[in-house]
Amino acid sequence: MPLVNQRVDVPVTIDPNLCIAECTLCVDMCPLDSLAIDPDTSKAYMHVDECWYCGPCAARCPTGAVTVDMPVLIR
Ligand code: SF4
Ligand code: SF4
Repeated sequence: MPLVNQRVDVPVTIDPNLCIAECTLCVDMCPLDSLAIDPDTSKAYMHVDECWYCGPCAARCPTGAVTVDMPVLIR
């Protein structure tokens, strides 16, 4: 799987201004382990460009920091 740095063109973006450092809830929820905690900032980000668009990462985030960019075909 391709590793990615924090980008805006991945399926899931996380607003670092809303993410609670060391929360890890979305990372724990993801069945694909696509999300990770940046060791420098302690904030979550998408580190693998793989997503099932299943949604618990966004639904469970307590601050609404996670945005899942659903492809038009499965909206
Ligand atoms: S669930 Fe929300 S606040 Fe928690 S690590 Fe993920 S993005 Fe940050
Ligand atoms: S939508 Fe599902 S697969 Fe995609 S990052 Fe969130 S929990 Fe993981």
